[in-house]
Amino acid sequence: MVVKAVPKKKTKKVAKRPKVFTGAALKKQAANIERLLRKAYPDAKCELDYRNAFELAAATILSAQCTDKRVNMVTPALFARYPNAAALAAADLHEVEDLIKSTGFYHNKARSLIGMAMALVTNHGGEVPRTMDDLVVLPGIGRKTANVVLGNAFGLNEGIVVDTHVARLSTRLGLTRETDPVKIERALMPLFPRTSWALLSHLLIWHGRRVCDAKKPRCAECVLNRICPSATTQKRVESGKK
Ligand code: SF4
Repeated sequence: MVVKAVPKKKTKKVAKRPKVFTGAALKKQAANIERLLRKAYPDAKCELDYRNAFELAAATILSAQCTDKRVNMVTPALFARYPNAAALAAADLHEVEDLIKSTGFYHNKARSLIGMAMALVTNHGGEVPRTMDDLVVLPGIGRKTANVVLGNAFGLNEGIVVDTHVARLSTRLGLTRETDPVKIERALMPLFPRTSWALLSHLLIWHGRRVCDAKKPRCAECVLNRICPSATTQKRVESGKK
């Protein structure tokens, strides 16, 4: 019996430079993305565990080049030992390093944590400031971390967090060709209502982690499939392969 080989289904690779929308089509694309992702992830939120702005700032510093899950395993012991800025400002560097070692880059992160805490004590009475200008001058805190703290701990929509997921999805979805995080943020801000900025980051990050993987996007399962210029396959329901 001759067994015919089943032809492999052809799939395109994700285009490196997909179409970028402009004008009214760009606004419409942004609105559709927000609508579909809100529906897909009604519970989207920051996946770092924290109880206040100080803990969120510290956890966000630790999350650089590390998963939120790993950070959440480390922070309970860290915050039990150093519950506030004053305690962390007086901490022994090596002791902090030992507590955060598993998050990687722990020499730099420990220095940033203690430096941030010292600046909070010296300049802000031990409290985390509520403005972008005051936050970005703190050791270890750039615009991304400042946006995380403002948007989540204080409910202030000052900007949009652009991490690796937000950057990748913004390109794939045709929202911008920029590659620099600050330029991506500037491109996204006018496309979405200000009240949505903090949530939008979570929606894109959740989708990037769960579906639009950097190497293997699961386009056939993606709720954005029909509107995504980078979709590699048609949605399964459309091709009858549920
Ligand atoms: S269809 Fe979905 S998973 Fe595929 S590239 Fe677009 S957003 Fe990512």
